[in-house]
This record gives sequence, structure tokens and C-alpha cells, in this order.
Amino acid sequence: MGEAWRGRCVSPTILTGRRAASSPVNYYTKRGQMTDQLEEIKKGGQVCSVSISESLLRRPPIGEENAFANALAQFEKAISHLTIKQGVADTLRYPRRELSVSFPVLMDNSEIRMFRGYRVHHSFARGPTKGGIRYAPTVTLDEVRALAMWMTWKCALMNLPFGGAKGGVVCDPKELSARELERLTRRYATEISILMGPESDIPAPDIGTNSQVMAWIMDTYSMHRGFSVPAVVTGKPVEIGGSLGRTEATGRGVTVTMLEALNLKGMGTDNVTVAIQGFGNVGSVAARLAHDLGLKVVAVSGSRGAIYRGNGLDPVAVTRHAEEAGGINDFPGADNITNEDLLTLDCDVLIAAAVENQITSRNADKIKAKIIAEGANGPTTPEADEILNDRGVFVIPDILCNAGGVTVSYLEWVQDLQSFFWPVEEINLKLEKLMKKAFESVMDCARLHNVSNREAAQILAIERIANAIMIRGIYP
Ligand code: NAD
Repeated sequence: MGEAWRGRCVSPTILTGRRAASSPVNYYTKRGQMTDQLEEIKKGGQVCSVSISESLLRRPPIGEENAFANALAQFEKAISHLTIKQGVADTLRYPRRELSVSFPVLMDNSEIRMFRGYRVHHSFARGPTKGGIRYAPTVTLDEVRALAMWMTWKCALMNLPFGGAKGGVVCDPKELSARELERLTRRYATEISILMGPESDIPAPDIGTNSQVMAWIMDTYSMHRGFSVPAVVTGKPVEIGGSLGRTEATGRGVTVTMLEALNLKGMGTDNVTVAIQGFGNVGSVAARLAHDLGLKVVAVSGSRGAIYRGNGLDPVAVTRHAEEAGGINDFPGADNITNEDLLTLDCDVLIAAAVENQITSRNADKIKAKIIAEGANGPTTPEADEILNDRGVFVIPDILCNAGGVTVSYLEWVQDLQSFFWPVEEINLKLEKLMKKAFESVMDCARLHNVSNREAAQILAIERIANAIMIRGIYP
């Protein structure tokens, strides 16, 4: 059976005719031409699958560093342990909706510049879609697709009533003035507003975006509605309906799962050394919390290099230095090392909190950490996964490790909807309980199926989504 790549923002359609010429679903050829050359396979009077000729497939390029190819490879591995219907698996292979937008922004020098943006809904079987918005020059549609798919698994694993989405704009926020960033954000928010809403799709911050960006999106959406709609985004400033504890939530969740893993491995917290790749929101919070718990944070890195100090770094002092010096390099008392050095350091825990595809077949065999905590989304390629598994490295998979962010985003959404806000202690307690419960379920599932932690996390998530799809039924 062939697989179809849907090139427009449309709902799935089951074809009823022998030929699909009248289908409202349009497919694109490799050269981007629209076509309706679809074939339908009927079994027992019921449409069970739709095939499309090989030349029309728009598969992502295969390669170790294509995030979507990696997400699909992980999916295929996980579903091999499940007995879900082929058609249900098909609905989860590709996003349900994709929106690509090109939009103009007025720059400070009065020039008009075009920007490209995306919003992808992977699945909404379990509720409104949820997922961050990334501003980076490297954003691609395949990356956004992968991140949306991982959001679906993550929300299901945490048992949150959400599906998965992701968005992104191809831009370098560091090169834009605050006014340009605001204009870009408001225009992008308007472009994707056909998908966005507190009951349909709720964005949050990701790389290159922050609570201010969320405030602009919330304000833009609210201006169009004529009243304030705080629940349309999460990760907002507390002053306009944000949740206490949201900024630290992802790093806090990483720390909770890391402690669980240390406990499980009988390593405790004494003399435990930690190296952290990425010293942004997730990495810096994880560093501070690990340091406060008595763990030794021996190295941290940013995109321009890493620093190492065998006796441990003070993350608060590193943050201050980074703010003053414009980066972590040349921190007094520490050695400058490379990012690659950091990944292969002799340490107990490696927290990967930067971007995708950092642990690959090129360096997985050199990694000395006993535990890898995936603060980032997709930091480990499937090829590297095999190597790490063979070597017995304990990986806390991304959809579990960094789920603290979406968990507190869910709490923020609930607080916004009921206009009743909880103290930070309550938020942190709820977060810790949910993270520990999910960690335990993943460990149980890994033991039951004799699979890696990543496969176990995805098995749990995919099973829950498949159940939801079957219970809801397929709309005619
Ligand atoms: P951020 O932009 O605040 O920080 C990213 C950090 O990584 C920066 O310090 C940057 O300099 C560094 N970096 C980028 N490329 C690097 C490289 N090749 N080597 C070393 N460092 C590099 O972003 P963030 O919000 O901390 O997100 C980090 C990761 O965590 C992303 O994968 C994101 O999708 C994931 N994540 C974030 C959240 C959240 O709530 N912020 C939630 C879940 C997952």
C-alpha cells in the first residue's frame, strides 16, 4: 500500500468513488503540481486504505538528521509492539493539518521583508492541539512535523487532554529589533489564527520565543475577538494569566526524572557529575536545580562553545556572566571546551538541552555518561539510540524528560479557563507527582515489553491515542 503525503491544510477524507477525481483532497507531485490521481482499495464494501502512486509520494529525505524521518522511524519501531489497526497507524504517520504561510513584515528601516512560517497539527484525537512556536533560521517544515508528532506522544504519555502541534518561523530573532519581533509575531499570529484557539490549538514558547512573544500572540488573538482570551496560549507572563512555575517547569521536570533515574540506578546524588548541553531556558533551570540538590554541574554549553570546571560550576554565576559577556565562554575559573568535548565528557549524567540531532552515530560510542536526560526534543538519532542501547546507557526519552513544560502549560490552561490561580507550591507538587507517575509507567512498560525507555514511552502514548481514535470512531 502506498502512503499519501497531503500537501494542503485539509481534514482527512475517506474516498468513496473508484477514482478520486472528485475528492476534495489534493495531492502534490514531487514538483509541487496538484494531482488527483488517487486509487482506492476497497475490501468487503468498506474503504480500508488509500494508495497513491510512488511518483506522488512526498516523503521527507532519508538521513540521520532529518527530524521527521527520525520521528517516523521511532514510530514504526514502537508500533511493532502494538496490535493497532493498520488504518489507525496510518492516521498517526502524518500530520492531520499543515499550514504554510508567507507574510510581509515592515522592518525598522521601512523595508518590507517576507518571512516563512508554519503551524502543524499532528493529531487532535485526545483534545485540542498543543505545542510550541520556534523562531530560528533553521526551521523547516519537516522539523515542525517531527516536533508536532513528538508533542502528540508527549501529551498522551502525560495523560493530558491534548493532541500535538508545533509552529515555527524561519528567522533569526537575535537579528530583529524588539519592534520588528513584535510586528513579525503579531502578523504570524494573525496568519495562523485560523487554526489557533483555546479549544482548538494552544501555542507555547520554544527555542527563540518567550513569554513576551506569547503575550503578543494572546493580545493579537484577543484584539480580533474583541475580548481577552488568555487560554489561547500558555507560557504567558503571570500578569496576564500565565502560571506560576511555568518558566522553570521544563527544567524542573528534567531534574525530577533525572533524580528518579539516579535512584533507580542506585547512584544517589552524592558526587554525581552532570554536563549540560544548551544553557537556555531548559538547560539553565536544570543546572540551577541540580546544583541546589548538591549535584556537581561540571560543564555547560551554548551554541558558541562550552565551559568545564571539574570542581563544579555555580549556574547562577554562569548566568550572570553570560548576561554581561554575551555568552558563557571565558567564565572565570573554568576552561573553554568545545560542544563535542562536552558531549563526550567523563560524567554521570548528560543533559541534552539544546536542539535535535546532537547525539548521532558519529559520537554515540564516545559518550561516557551513564544517564542521558533528553531536555531537548529529538537530541538522539535512531542510529545513536541503537548504539546507546547496546552500551547500556540509560536514556530518559524526550517525551518523558522534557514533559514538565507542557504539563504546567496544561495547568496554566486549566487556571485560565476557570479564572482561578494556584500558588507555585501547588503547581510544583502537581508537576512532580505527574512526572514521577509517568516515569514509573515508562519503566513498567519497558520491563513488560523488554524494550528501551524510548520505545516504552512511545508504546504507552501511541496505545492511548489509538484507543481514543477507535472509541471516537471514524467520521464518515
Ligand atoms: P532556548 O533557546 O532558551 O535555549 C537553547 C540553548 O541551546 C541556547 O543556550 C543555545 O545557545 C543552545 N544551543 C543551540 N544550539 C546548540 C548547539 N548545537 N550546541 C550547544 N548549545 C546549543 O531554548 P529552550 O526553551 O531551552 O529549549 C531547548 C530545547 O528544549 C529545545 O529542543 C526545545 O524544543 C526543548 N523544549 C523546551 C521546552 C520549554 O518549555 N522551553 C519544553 C519542552 C522542550
